[in-house]
Amino acid sequence: MAPGNGIQTSGSNIKAIEGSSVHQITSGQVVIDLQTAVKELVENSLDAGATNIEVRFKDYGLKSIEVVDNGTGIAPEDYDSIALKHHTSKLTSFEDLTTVTTFGFRGEALSSLCALSDSLTVTTATAQQSPMGTVIEMAPSGTIKSRSGKVARQRGTTICVSGLFTPLAVRRKEFERNAKREFGKALNLLSAYALVPCTHENKGVRLQVSNQPNGGRKTVQLKTDGSTSINASVTALWGPKSLENVVDLDLQFLVDMDRTVARRLKDSGEGDTEVKVKGLISSFAVGCGRTGTDRQFFFINGRPCSPSRVQKAFNEVYRSFNTNQSPFIVANFILPTNACDINVSPDKRTIFLHSENNLIQALKVICHPSHSQLPS
Ligand code: ADP
Ligand code: MG
Repeated sequence: MAPGNGIQTSGSNIKAIEGSSVHQITSGQVVIDLQTAVKELVENSLDAGATNIEVRFKDYGLKSIEVVDNGTGIAPEDYDSIALKHHTSKLTSFEDLTTVTTFGFRGEALSSLCALSDSLTVTTATAQQSPMGTVIEMAPSGTIKSRSGKVARQRGTTICVSGLFTPLAVRRKEFERNAKREFGKALNLLSAYALVPCTHENKGVRLQVSNQPNGGRKTVQLKTDGSTSINASVTALWGPKSLENVVDLDLQFLVDMDRTVARRLKDSGEGDTEVKVKGLISSFAVGCGRTGTDRQFFFINGRPCSPSRVQKAFNEVYRSFNTNQSPFIVANFILPTNACDINVSPDKRTIFLHSENNLIQALKVICHPSHSQLPS
């Protein structure tokens, strides 16, 4: 490939990497494992306003992963850019990043999945095209291989990824060796999406996940009924007993904005950010918690994430009441979109919280017995 910017580098030791290699190198960082692959597909369905999402694994995802939704579908004029790198329908400029409310915004997922699999097929129909859908086969480069297939399809989109990681020999081998564990991690992450109705209008999402082992029968792994309540989702995932000794989490407090952050945001106001935390937590009495931290789910504005310091703060406060146990936690932090940076890691699971120290401090104060907003 010719080096960019018209700069002559012939004879130089430093040369531009050839285009398709760049694509493979960077894609391998966007989709790192099975759980990121399926997460990206489910997030796309949620972004498309789906209220019904079915995830079908074949052979724990080794053979294929298919996500079927009843979202908006993709219009024919958009087919060409579905899987082109950095092509997205969700964001147009860097400034939009502070206000974005969709899960996706970088336009990398589908292009990466094309580069990292044997084949990727999109079947889609908009309301206008329903009940007829178009089958689009993508090439590894993200361009269209064929778009002539037609099938009966109600409004929505199906994306099927076969042979994930085959082009990366080492990663494929690892995946084959650890398929069941990787599948378990993917299920756990899917539980987070099943839990808090994570769409913005909270219309409730019916999520069903199944697996069909090689030569075996398809079995349902998890299923929610589309209710908008967290309690109903918890019951659907782990049974009614899992709500015993669990209380509502409903906090509201002001976080002092760091002076440096306030200056950067050119915020002339009070410098306080209002934070709400909604969800569920184990009662603070002895014996009401769990033996491990396995069921702790955190969200920032509905986006599942792993804020390790916030999680640690919760566990610390909890253990000051119930020394030997850990709480069940579902905690959705609701805060202004400009008070967090979601564009930190490729998988968007790490989120920078402006003034995180102050937030944690405020959280500890509010959970403390002398000032508790928490029911005991
Ligand atoms: P991003 O989500 O960051 O925009 P993706 O590569 O995940 O990037 O998807 C590219 C585009 O393809 C999306 O912006 C969207 O317009 C379209 N798309 C992908 N999946 C779906 C889906 N399930 N339903 C409707 N549109 C979709
Ligand atoms: Mg996406």
